[in-house]
Amino acid sequence: MGRYTDSVCRLCRRENLKLHLKGDRCYSDKCALDRRAYPPGQHRQERRAKFSPYGIQLREKQKVKRMYGILEKQFYNYFRQAARQRGKTGENLLILLERRLDNMIYRLGFADSRSGARQLVRHGHLLLNGKRVNIPSCLVSAEDVIEVREKSKKMARLLESLESAPRRGVPSWLELDQKNLRGVVKALPKREDLAMPIREQLIVEFYSR
Ligand code: SF4
Repeated sequence: MGRYTDSVCRLCRRENLKLHLKGDRCYSDKCALDRRAYPPGQHRQERRAKFSPYGIQLREKQKVKRMYGILEKQFYNYFRQAARQRGKTGENLLILLERRLDNMIYRLGFADSRSGARQLVRHGHLLLNGKRVNIPSCLVSAEDVIEVREKSKKMARLLESLESAPRRGVPSWLELDQKNLRGVVKALPKREDLAMPIREQLIVEFYSR
């Protein structure tokens, strides 16, 4: 399956949840889900369909996959990695997703969406522990330091994202030094730190069928 190229707002409308894929627009009255809170498609004004147990599990998996902007194969690889770890597979999965570098950059506020964060990494604007990195899926660990390269510190897009970061909020497990455009991973998040409405057990059930 290739990269999704249609309007990302359709994904939020499909999942009936704000996935925050469009930066500041998601917090404005232009949000497509606020304006049209029904599924996309021809019979859009109809009520939301009732799902079978399989359908509910599938939707939960799709929701999380879309939230983090990950394709199926890679998402399944995360699931397998989570299943090999100690503890609850669902929680391990969410923490692995949170550890992605693009997610951390979004959480720190250097980008206003995860796709924007991916672009920043791919274009080499970031340093991880002092080394240039261009792999958005790279997993960060506690005490890692993420910083913007000196020559990228004046990028308008980055500064605009930082300006609107307080609205999105920087999570407690990260420390942001806004002046120096530097973030520290104080600790890896725990399940209770993640406020998104995700029922990860349904994803485990989906892949365990
Ligand atoms: Fe989703 Fe953002 Fe589009 Fe609203 S504006 S539907 S939250 S991507």
